[in-house]
Amino acid sequence: MERKTVLLVDDNPSNLKLLVDCLESHDFRVAVATNGDEALKRLQRAHLAKPDLILLDIMMPGIDGYETCRQIKLIPEISDIPIIFLSALSETPDKVYGFSLGAVDYITKPINLAEMIARVNTHLDLSELRRKLDRLVQKRTQELLDVNASLRHQIEERERAEAQIRYIATHDSLTDLPNRFLMAERLDQLIKRAHRYNERIALMFLDLDQFKIVNESLGHRFGDMLLSDVAYRLKDAALTADAVARLGGDDFVICLPLHDENEDVIATAKTMLEALREPFYINDINIHVSASIGVAVYPDDGKDADRLMRNADAALYCAKQAGRAEIKRYTTELDTAAHEHLNLSSLLTDAIREGELCMEYQPQIELNTGKIIGAEALMRWRRADGTYISPAEFIPVAESSGQIKVLGEWGIRQSCAELKRWHDAGYTDLSMSVNVSVPQLHSAGFVDTVQSIIEEYQLPPAKLELEITESLLMQHSKTNLNILHTLSDFGVLLSVDDFGTGYSSLAYLQDFPVNTLKIDISFVRNIGTDSGDAIPSAIVAMAHSLGLNVVAEGVETGAQEAFLRSQGCEYAQGFHYSRSVPGDRFLELCKAGISTADNR
Ligand code: C2E
Ligand code: CA
Ligand code: CA
Repeated sequence: MERKTVLLVDDNPSNLKLLVDCLESHDFRVAVATNGDEALKRLQRAHLAKPDLILLDIMMPGIDGYETCRQIKLIPEISDIPIIFLSALSETPDKVYGFSLGAVDYITKPINLAEMIARVNTHLDLSELRRKLDRLVQKRTQELLDVNASLRHQIEERERAEAQIRYIATHDSLTDLPNRFLMAERLDQLIKRAHRYNERIALMFLDLDQFKIVNESLGHRFGDMLLSDVAYRLKDAALTADAVARLGGDDFVICLPLHDENEDVIATAKTMLEALREPFYINDINIHVSASIGVAVYPDDGKDADRLMRNADAALYCAKQAGRAEIKRYTTELDTAAHEHLNLSSLLTDAIREGELCMEYQPQIELNTGKIIGAEALMRWRRADGTYISPAEFIPVAESSGQIKVLGEWGIRQSCAELKRWHDAGYTDLSMSVNVSVPQLHSAGFVDTVQSIIEEYQLPPAKLELEITESLLMQHSKTNLNILHTLSDFGVLLSVDDFGTGYSSLAYLQDFPVNTLKIDISFVRNIGTDSGDAIPSAIVAMAHSLGLNVVAEGVETGAQEAFLRSQGCEYAQGFHYSRSVPGDRFLELCKAGISTADNR
């Protein structure tokens, strides 16, 4: 065991001698001071070994033992050294005073040496134990602090990660706008607030006009950049953080509390459209963009988020129907329209029975020669009372009621019978395009029906073309591919109707056995306007690169025709040549030839 050092402080030389001898004989190292000052000086001299225990006489010249003890306890480095007073005094009050100064024990004079050694050893052991305990406590404390710090770090990390995950889950990565979930949450909160304070909220659904075609003709990267810029402008115009969200694609939502009771929501919606009015400058291209907006207002048009969103969506649908850059507020008439839907369906049942339906044929012209090469069959419904109902109205009704199967089959049969008459009259080059809607194509036995009709009228299958909509290509399902491939293998031709208005990806076109693209009437209408030429010419170029023919729909002017011809578009139809006509009249047109001046 290591030798311990005892500092002995006493002014009495004989006492000193006695004690030093005794301590040394018990293997202690002994340092000596003869008064308090000397003891303190010695203790402060850092190079001297720190004693393990101090034996301190109380009665000394100069500063006495009590004062020496008090000063030792003030010095942190040595305050832990156990001090035992040596005293001739045995009165209790002085002992208590000594303990209160921090002494651990008293040895009274005359000193019993054995007792002194025993007490010294006891206090050295105690002091050692205390030091050990202190160290242990310190170590444990440090460990706890470390664990604590690491826990805090972990918690912070997790909070950061959670915040990040929440951000990603609630925001659109392209535009950084809130997404559908965050928007719905926010709308709920706004509704609660508005309910409490009797406020109104405008919920706007905004959809870019013809964004898809921008995307397809200028590339997805371009489309993405455009969406980001649009998002930025909308956010800027909304003036409220988090007011604008992106639902996906080119669908945005703007959700604004209306502060003023008289605030005009349509005017507010107009400021949104106004924000998009300046052209966007992207990749050295100046591009004009317009959008349509459907508005629903809390509480007038819906009392909960669900209904408001549905109604804003319905209003948007209505705005899109009305054309470009339209704003429509939800009205209950939209619901009435749904009721009329039901009514129309029962009228349609009668129409089929009463024979109010007929097919008419719109000539399709080869642009190079001006010759009629075929017809698009269009269904007509003139009611007994003389009213005319557009197929744009009754076909969707027939689709949702299931009547389309019977109606469509009837239309194909009529058209094939008519084509047979034309062929028999000697116009064997003529072909017939018939519109087929998605539910019709999916109805049981559709392919067999088409085949048996063609066989019944002994027509070359390639003289029948079925027009399908882009939305079908979007559903890239096995069933769709199977149906279209079976038809195509049989020899029937397929065309994509209203091309550019749907959401098909051009990549999909390659997977479908399509022969022809029909440029939608809305693009033809814009020929000759600012930036209106770009899309038809892009569609023609792209169709040709995929080996497809192009038919332009809705050609109404010579200028449109000239432009389309200059772009290499092969075929056209439209009022410029002829409206749809009954079958007999069509044959007359074939005989006489089309003079564009007469039929405009
Ligand atoms: P669609 O297939 O896009 O038909 C072309 C529409 O444009 C026809 O409207 C036609 O009359 C009209 N149109 C043709 N040339 C011009 C023009 O120069 N200017 C203008 N403004 N319009 C022109 P319609 O006949 O009202 O048909 C509407 C839609 O109903 C058709 O659109 C088609 O999707 C559907 N449809 C018509 N007949 C049938 C059918 O027998 N079966 C099915 N499933 N759908 C049909
Ligand atoms: Ca069509
Ligand atoms: Ca069309």
